[in-house]
Amino acid sequence: MSFESIRKIGVVGAGLMGHGIAQEFALAGYDVSLHDISEDLLQQARVNMRRNLGIMADAGMASKEAADVVPESIGMSTHLGDAVVEADYVVEAITEDLALKQRVFAEMDWLCPMQTIIASNTSTFMPSSLASATGRPDKVLVTHYFNPPHFVPLVEVVRHAGTSEETFDTVMGLLTSVGKRPVGLKKEVPGFIGNRLQFALLRECLSLVENGVASPQDIDAVVKNSFGRRLAVAGPFEVFDAAGWDTILAILTELAPDLEATDEASALAVENVQQGRLGLKSGSGFYDWTPESAQGLRERIAGALMEIERWSRDDDGAN
Ligand code: NAD
Repeated sequence: MSFESIRKIGVVGAGLMGHGIAQEFALAGYDVSLHDISEDLLQQARVNMRRNLGIMADAGMASKEAADVVPESIGMSTHLGDAVVEADYVVEAITEDLALKQRVFAEMDWLCPMQTIIASNTSTFMPSSLASATGRPDKVLVTHYFNPPHFVPLVEVVRHAGTSEETFDTVMGLLTSVGKRPVGLKKEVPGFIGNRLQFALLRECLSLVENGVASPQDIDAVVKNSFGRRLAVAGPFEVFDAAGWDTILAILTELAPDLEATDEASALAVENVQQGRLGLKSGSGFYDWTPESAQGLRERIAGALMEIERWSRDDDGAN
């Protein structure tokens, strides 16, 4: 199937990621249906879409008309079949639980037309472990979005050994057509690319705090006021090409033995979770959050992402 023949898209799971993914395809003109396990969750998804599109309309990234029409145009159902039975393409964005995802993949395989491509937004599971739950492994892959999916352009497209070239090309074409900047991995690997990089950084951040080198606030300040700024416009290989590899090699040789390399999750992260410090959703993490300050952070991130998107469009293909 070519991406041009895709008309109907099913999105399964209407949470943080699913509602944004559904919204983006609907904004691009696709006939989108969304499924979750309760009416309340689906209604909340519609509220979230209205809010997102309102912000985008205010910033000139969507029309006022689209902001009104798109959330109402999306079909919503608590029955999985309603969302997928006629879909040409399905994105699964349910809770990160392998056994649950495998059950839902098996059900979707049974419900969907044979030609339907089924993608998962999993952050960690390999596409082969989802494909094996279906009778169409050639049409299964991972499309890993970043939060918020309607503002962040990257999608990692991860195939397993049995994903067909046709499926991969169709999904790359579809994502490009709605304005994403998909990157295809050559083979599956846990964490794909983005999360391997983010979690290598996180492991070092937690280690610096645990070893009393700096506070979480100081580490955030270092990143935001230094290399974090560069990373929005230049990737690590561009940055280090600019720095000069002779210097970088000297630093790497000195630092490599000292960098955190534990193969266990940080005790600090475990303690936070055990004590209910889950971040914005529980009112505290490494910072304390009120509903207002949490919303302020979300808006700060969304506003900056839209700003970066505006000027990076002009910069595309510069390197
Ligand atoms: P979420 O908890 O906000 O949403 C998950 C939704 O799935 C919930 O609304 C839940 O009711 C629904 N659900 C659970 N079981 C279901 C079932 N059997 N059928 C239909 N719906 C079901 O989670 P999220 O953050 O949106 O994450 C969803 C997926 O996206 C996960 O695989 C996650 O790893 C991945 N992901 C998350 C992020 C992120 O930053 N949160 C980023 C990239 C990828």
